[in-house]
Amino acid sequence: MSESRAKATRVDHISIVVEDFDRAYDFYANQLGLEVLKVEESELHGVKAAFLKIGDMMIEIIRPLGEGPIADFLAKRGPGFHHVAFEVPDLPEALDEVAGAGIRVLGEPKPGIHGGRISFLHPKDTQGTMVELCDTKEPEDS
Ligand code: ZN
Repeated sequence: MSESRAKATRVDHISIVVEDFDRAYDFYANQLGLEVLKVEESELHGVKAAFLKIGDMMIEIIRPLGEGPIADFLAKRGPGFHHVAFEVPDLPEALDEVAGAGIRVLGEPKPGIHGGRISFLHPKDTQGTMVELCDTKEPEDS
C-alpha cells in the first residue's frame, strides 16, 4: 500500500468562531494564559482574528467583519468550534489525494492568514467537521 500524499504531520490550529471577540480573547489569553502571537483584522478573510500559541499549535479566534461564510456559520450554528487545520507537506498533492477519495475540496488553495497555503474540505464529506489542510509554502512557490 502506497503512503498517503495527504499524510498530516501535525495539528496547526483549531479555529473558534465567536460573537464577542474581547470576551473570547480574555478567556484564552488571560484565563488560560495562552501566548498571543498576533491580533489582526483581515479584509481578505473577512475576519478579526487572534492567534494564540499552545505547544506547537495555535488556537485561532475569529469574528466575522461582515457578511460571508463565517457570518452565515455564526448565524446558523452559533459561536463555537469552527474548524481544525492539519499541516501537510504539500497542499496541492494532499488535495489531489483526498479529492481522489471523493472528498470535496472547497475552492483553490489560498494564502493563509498566518502564511502558507490553505484549503477547506467539505464537512459533509468528513463526517461533519470542517477540516482545513495547510502547508508552509507560499503561494508563489508552486
Ligand atoms: Zn484555519
